Amino acid sequence: MTDLVVRAVTKSYGATPALRGVDLDVGSAGFTAILGPSGCGKTTLLRCIAGFERPDAGEILADGQVVAGTSVHVPAHRRRIAVVPQEGALFPHLSVAANVGYGLTREQRRTARVDEVLELVGLAGYGRRWPHELSGGQQQRVAVARALAPRPRLVLLDEPFSALDAALRVELRRDIRAALLAAGATVVLVTHDQDEALSTADQVAVMRDGVVVQVGAPVEVYRAP
Ligand code: ADP
Ligand code: ADP
Repeated sequence: MTDLVVRAVTKSYGATPALRGVDLDVGSAGFTAILGPSGCGKTTLLRCIAGFERPDAGEILADGQVVAGTSVHVPAHRRRIAVVPQEGALFPHLSVAANVGYGLTREQRRTARVDEVLELVGLAGYGRRWPHELSGGQQQRVAVARALAPRPRLVLLDEPFSALDAALRVELRRDIRAALLAAGATVVLVTHDQDEALSTADQVAVMRDGVVVQVGAPVEVYRAP
């Protein structure tokens, strides 16, 4: 498990403050959900952790190594952080296997890694299919397989289930959670859906207005006023 620490991170877009000093210790919790209403800064925090945005102040450490800060730039391949976006993650002109193998080196693609991660997400045998032949839920499974393929230490998910219908979501959440943890990755999920955060995560960080206001086990967060 990767130890992720966010220290006093601030980030503004022009005059709009998105993060006002976020502190968060993901620690040894396997699966952390960041829960908060639209506009509270969840995506910005995720993008800072991923290295897509640079904080204005503060720093982010993974296993004690600074991966994001005001003067730090760690190249993508050395961060070992993968992102699963909301939807539309797949390249439509590539097969499922090619999508999953996209981030791998030629050497890695020759191994059974693609089949391995497809199996992990419940899509063994789907490698020759095309994204448009799959349901929305299956496409998200492929996106998770692609994220896992290069063995990231940290996987970040941005509302990955929001485009799917409710019945499908429950099953997908359970399967995706199992796949991510089986792969040994530390997971951070961003969502505005309380039910999703409480049912999927081991630890929930509640965000309001650019700060983390509460961190706890789902049952603690649920009991809070
Ligand atoms: P959430 O993911 O919780 O909905 P965001 O991180 O997307 O929140 O946004 C936090 C705040 O930052 C909002 O006020 C939003 O309008 C603003 N914001 C986010 N991204 C940008 C951007 N690229 N340019 C300008 N403002 C942005
Ligand atoms: P959101 O509001 O959901 O963050 P964006 O349009 O800002 O949407 O980003 C969409 C996706 O583009 C991100 O989730 C990320 O996967 C990808 N992305 C953005 N910037 C970069 C970057 N610098 N390097 C790699 N991928 C990026």
